[in-house]
Amino acid sequence: MFFCVSCGEPLDSEGGLNFSHFHQVTSDCRLFGSGGQVLHCAACGLVQRPRSRRWREDCAEIYLDYQAHRQGRGEEQKVFNSSLGQSRSDGLISHISGKFRIGDHASWLDYGCGEGHFLESLSQHRPDVALSGCDHTNEIPQRLRNQDRIKYFPVGSPFRARFDWISLIHVVEHFHDPRNDLRRIQQLLKPGGRIFIQVPDLDRNPFDLIIADHGSFFTRSTICQLLQGSGLDVELCADDWVRKELSIVATQQTDTKHIASLKTAEEPQRLLEHHLKFLTSLKSEIRSNKKEKITIFGSSIAATWAAAERGVENVHEFLDEDSSRQNAKHLGVPVRKPTPGLQNVIIPLDLDLQKKLKKKYRY
Ligand SMILES: [Zn+2]
Repeated sequence: MFFCVSCGEPLDSEGGLNFSHFHQVTSDCRLFGSGGQVLHCAACGLVQRPRSRRWREDCAEIYLDYQAHRQGRGEEQKVFNSSLGQSRSDGLISHISGKFRIGDHASWLDYGCGEGHFLESLSQHRPDVALSGCDHTNEIPQRLRNQDRIKYFPVGSPFRARFDWISLIHVVEHFHDPRNDLRRIQQLLKPGGRIFIQVPDLDRNPFDLIIADHGSFFTRSTICQLLQGSGLDVELCADDWVRKELSIVATQQTDTKHIASLKTAEEPQRLLEHHLKFLTSLKSEIRSNKKEKITIFGSSIAATWAAAERGVENVHEFLDEDSSRQNAKHLGVPVRKPTPGLQNVIIPLDLDLQKKLKKKYRY
């Protein structure tokens, strides 16, 4: 028997939809086997992987050789809904400082800082802020080595400092026990401090469900309920700061508030049915026309999944509009700039974007 990692109620594994026949990919864009389980909690609606021994072992294997931003050769993903091709970190910092006062000489911890892109941007935008980062590696990330202002701690080492801000960017969906992890992390806040969280938005991103090391798949409602159950009050939850992501600012609860009424299971069930149908139909498109090699638009999560479903040996090339990814190889296959009029192009994106790209490039 497994229990919901947000509300603690038992999970019913009988009525779950079957996603286990899809290939999975790792969150750093490597191929991974099939067999991923997806359940939702009948009480609070959170979609999650049951915390089975197999899932824990899979995660341990993935993190042994983990490299964030692997496919971008160290360059952070650009945010293409901005006409400037602004980096994700720069965009987040301008959104946060547009809504909240960061505070002069504030202290900021980026929890799960990866290679340090966010801290690097923050140090450029806010030279007065005292910056710290932590992650699972013992050594400070390469790109932060020459930045004397940024302190680095391995996760689990005893922290003495307290912070005005703690950011968790693409971190909470990896937690094995998110409620307790969030309770532990908020102990590092100064009184009145704030937490900034970013997670994928399951409402808008079916491909999140094929990432093997993601344990929770949040909607606006389920992330807010998790935070509230972890002792945090949500001040803001935006779905338009970064496309297909939820951006949340929260503070520690000062008194115990009544948790908003819980949802029925109907809503996540419908969402999962919709995503299952979408992925199944895309998979059959990817596998049709067995004679010719395919070209795949994109070179990150969804494109990696499409290559796995087709078999990498049957992929001619990947196409990416991001110049930092072009003229390299992903999974041993060339990544090129998209050119108009190509044949056999698979576009593993939502239907709106598929339509736009088909028109733009005449695919
Ligand atoms: Zn629950």
